[in-house]
Amino acid sequence: MRKKDALYLKEKIKSSYNLAETGKQFLIAHYTAGIFNDFVFFDHGKGSKMYDIDGNEYIDCAGGIGPLILGHSHEAVVNAATEAIEKGCLHGLGNEYEVRFAELLVESIPQAEVVTFTNSGTEATMHAIKLARAYTGKEKIAKFEGHYHGTHEFAQISGRTAKYGPVERPESVADYAGIPEYAVDGTITLSMNQKESFDIIRQYKDELAAVIVEPLPMYAPLDYKVFLKGLREVTEECGVLLIFDEVVTGFRLAFGGAREYFNIIPDLATYGKIIGGGFPAGAIVGTKKFFKPAYFDGFNIGRKSVFFTGTFSGNPVTCAAGIAVIEYLRDHKYLYEQMNQNVLYICNQIEAHANEIGYPLQTKSACSLFVPYFFKEEINKPRDTNWTNNIGQYDTLRKHMLKHGVSLSDIGVVFVTAAHSREDCDSIVKAFNQSIDEMY
Ligand code: PMP
Repeated sequence: MRKKDALYLKEKIKSSYNLAETGKQFLIAHYTAGIFNDFVFFDHGKGSKMYDIDGNEYIDCAGGIGPLILGHSHEAVVNAATEAIEKGCLHGLGNEYEVRFAELLVESIPQAEVVTFTNSGTEATMHAIKLARAYTGKEKIAKFEGHYHGTHEFAQISGRTAKYGPVERPESVADYAGIPEYAVDGTITLSMNQKESFDIIRQYKDELAAVIVEPLPMYAPLDYKVFLKGLREVTEECGVLLIFDEVVTGFRLAFGGAREYFNIIPDLATYGKIIGGGFPAGAIVGTKKFFKPAYFDGFNIGRKSVFFTGTFSGNPVTCAAGIAVIEYLRDHKYLYEQMNQNVLYICNQIEAHANEIGYPLQTKSACSLFVPYFFKEEINKPRDTNWTNNIGQYDTLRKHMLKHGVSLSDIGVVFVTAAHSREDCDSIVKAFNQSIDEMY
């Protein structure tokens, strides 16, 4: 990239954070490293590395905020997507890749019978909730505090900034502006690893269409197996659908996702991130009976049918890339153990260093991701993670890590991919420890 273009881009991005500036303005979609004084703007990625517009190399631990489990520009994905593009980016009709991808997902996800595609995790959770309402004839939904399900009205309630009311009975509060009261009133908020949550589900069973849960919330990767088993039982007993939001956990915790990891089958599940190979993707998965109210032609208008197709849903490029990633993971399952071992290797070493110098740090991990927490108090449920304070400290860490050649995601979670070598992990540990020394 020419120096002049690089400077222009940097200035544009910088000014996009400040709407008060004069002239035409745009808002960037992501909180880039540009918010820091040492401005970094990425140009391209390959494998475990990213390169900024000034030509500097970084080890990437953001993985596109989770999707790039095989690393950047994996050959199989690039080839598959290129082949699909050459056949026409979009057909506006069913296409070969969509059919093959749907078949592959149904074969790969334990006990799945039906899959339909969306363009994002947000769309998937939004439509799954509608489907649950249509199937049960009930309207309210329950979700867990601290769980993230995207950006639609019923997702942005007691999510990221959770900690409202007592832990046994959290309040439903809109996380951001623009969320209507009807969404707040229509959502019951529960706590994970808290037995009172089951009593609340029983109490509201005649109004509750579904309980949506991140089987392993990425901000709090803890052991939820016993709780999830209880949740499966109580939802079944109450005629309330259980929706696993597997946007992060799908094809990450194990090839079969949280279903395989916890050995629990929900009624419906939502997917995104990994399944698109880096292209916009989402999917809703379930068994046939729960898809009965679903119509895709849009002409079955009326309160008995759910309509959730979209111009780009099931588009050939995403589906071709998705097939490449899922087939690669299916044929290289040892990668799950490799990623998990690499994460444990990093976590053990950075915790040991922090202990040695007396810095308050702990980590929690699950397979290919981990979260650093900047305090020593015990963590048993998402509320204990003190997310709002923790993300502030993490932001400082992110800035230091960048100086030491490692790029972190902007969401408080560190992603290790199949492309990361042991050498990369050693560099991550070194950068982390140097950063902690500077922050101390
Ligand atoms: N559910 C979960 C568990 C997520 O982590 C996310 C995104 N981080 C979403 C849903 C929304 O997905 P998207 O960003 O693709 O809309």
